[in-house]
Amino acid sequence: MKKVKESEEIFELIYTNSKKIKTELNYSTPFQFLIAVIMSAQTTDKQVNIATKDFFEKVKIPEDLVTWKLEDIEKYFKSLNYYKTKSKSILATAKLLTKDYKSIIPNSLEEIQKLPWVGIKTAKVVLWVLYDAPYIWVDTHVHRICNRIGICTTKTPEETDKFLEINISTETKRKVHHALVLFWRYTCTARNPKCESCFLNNTCEYYKSLKSI
Ligand code: SF4
Repeated sequence: MKKVKESEEIFELIYTNSKKIKTELNYSTPFQFLIAVIMSAQTTDKQVNIATKDFFEKVKIPEDLVTWKLEDIEKYFKSLNYYKTKSKSILATAKLLTKDYKSIIPNSLEEIQKLPWVGIKTAKVVLWVLYDAPYIWVDTHVHRICNRIGICTTKTPEETDKFLEINISTETKRKVHHALVLFWRYTCTARNPKCESCFLNNTCEYYKSLKSI
């Protein structure tokens, strides 16, 4: 397993090699971003952007949505997985935000998880993007790449999350999250990772193990 200093340097490399540092989800207001993240579960960002294009012309803040009928929301999202549950959830979220939060997305892990469909992963990515919060959203992909590289040797995303929470600096966590997403999406993919052209192949434990066979 890598030493903490080396892990920090690897995250820095992932960050500096990332071409885009913005999320690939389209949005123009915080509420739209929250909707886009909720819609993105089990769905690609591209599909979400297609589905939200016309919807976001009409819905920018929670007040724009509270009077909508559920079936009118569902029409926009029929192409997405779990669109019924997600539509129900964004309507409930709009109502809760206007009622209890003055239409402002809460800026704490505890409060934001009180919103419907917002678990720990969604909470972290929303806080990271909207409030520059120092979180890494550890899903199965981030878990995979950290273990392949040798940053940690953990069995589950939850263990990886805890490991990074304790061992990685606040400054690194604040900036690296989205670069990690782009890295697993385009380079260290689940199947056929692009090891030969990867800028980490001189330090990656997985790559070293392939070469030693
Ligand atoms: S060398 Fe291969 S396995 Fe290692 S980080 Fe790069 S793409 Fe992933």
